[in-house]
Amino acid sequence: MGTIYAIANQKGGVGKTTTAVNVAACIAEAGYETLLVDIDPQANATVGLGLAKDLEPSIYDVISVEADAAAAIRPSDIERLSVLPASPDLAGANMELPRLPGSEGRLRDALAAVRDDYAFVILDCPPSLGPLTVNALVAADRVIVPVQTEYLALEGLAGLLDTLALVQRELNPRLTIAGMLLTMHDGRTRLARDVEREVREHFPSLVFDTVIPRNVRIGEAPSYGLPVIHHDPHCSGADAYFELAKEVAARA
Ligand code: ADP
Ligand code: MG
Repeated sequence: MGTIYAIANQKGGVGKTTTAVNVAACIAEAGYETLLVDIDPQANATVGLGLAKDLEPSIYDVISVEADAAAAIRPSDIERLSVLPASPDLAGANMELPRLPGSEGRLRDALAAVRDDYAFVILDCPPSLGPLTVNALVAADRVIVPVQTEYLALEGLAGLLDTLALVQRELNPRLTIAGMLLTMHDGRTRLARDVEREVREHFPSLVFDTVIPRNVRIGEAPSYGLPVIHHDPHCSGADAYFELAKEVAARA
């Protein structure tokens, strides 16, 4: 059965989508059937893999009207990597879901029918701890938490860990933290090095060894609709996401 990873942090701009797209692409490149599920109304992962953000059916239909997940999954241009795309109307699900009893399990139930077709399923979460992220945490086996090595990096992590513990206790006892991932790291600055040390001291054994560097190629790859390993296979960003995918697969 495929392992489901949620990429979550309620802060925006910390590298969730970049990590979701690039880990999924590296795992697919390593030979595993992989599904990326975009559950952010911004649809950045969908667009970053070269798909349109107005495809129907989308994850919105799957979550809101319980459309068949298999019908919404499309191939990407990358071998072994499929996408369940998001669309902007997904924002409406944030309003609708709380009114529907038991709706925390919608994504889990939808993925139950397709997860056996994939070795890895990666969920790209929106930047909030709202109903969509809760759906992802209920569906997931593991969580990867990207943390940008910037001022206030630890801010909000306590809230996220509380939410994870709550979901674990009330809704999904299987859920574990795969790891925290330091992203957009600029090792030349003292601040970034201090933040790395602080996060590792605060959460010993929870932080991935691999650190994702700040890298221009990573930033520009989505505008070509490509993961960085296909945009520039030999840049430092591609190397780092490959190393991370190995760490993730080794811990699976
Ligand atoms: P989130 O999904 O958490 O909001 P993103 O993955 O969209 O964050 O990243 C925010 C922005 O930073 C995007 O423009 C992305 O291309 C850029 N970015 C992410 N990681 C890196 C990196 N390692 N180096 C350079 N730019 C990055
Ligand atoms: Mg995002």
